[in-house]
Amino acid sequence: MPDWLTHVLFAWALWNILSLKFNMPFIGIFITGSLLPDIDKVEVMIPFNAEPFLSVFHTPVGALITSGVISMAILRDGQAHVFLALGIGSISHLLLDLMVKSMDGRVMLFFPFSFVSYSLNIIAQEDFMFLYLAMAVFLMSFIVMRYHGDVKK
Ligand SMILES: [Zn+2]
Repeated sequence: MPDWLTHVLFAWALWNILSLKFNMPFIGIFITGSLLPDIDKVEVMIPFNAEPFLSVFHTPVGALITSGVISMAILRDGQAHVFLALGIGSISHLLLDLMVKSMDGRVMLFFPFSFVSYSLNIIAQEDFMFLYLAMAVFLMSFIVMRYHGDVKK
């Protein structure tokens, strides 16, 4: 996985770009969604092997179900917006993880129909290029927002 800072920077940039076109409330929830699939990392705190169960959270279906459950459990109003924010943030996380080089894959894209993990094998796990790219995209998104704001005036 890219580190969490990389996920947060990409998600924030994505939120910036999407907010140019759409009404995008809940930036904090959107960014939380970008970290949500890694909830499976709590396995390090569990004394038994829970990986088979927890790895479900790191799939598109698992991320969307988690987003739905959280949005319904926490809120009475605005559940659809929270679900979308968490869901899109989660999917952005999985798309980034897909780019990591891996012999045995990173994301079970077609779970529950298949348990095969996939990877696009673009960037090595330990490569800082991911973080530098995230920083560049993050800064560019603010420049685009600034330019877009000037054009509208
Ligand atoms: Zn991940």
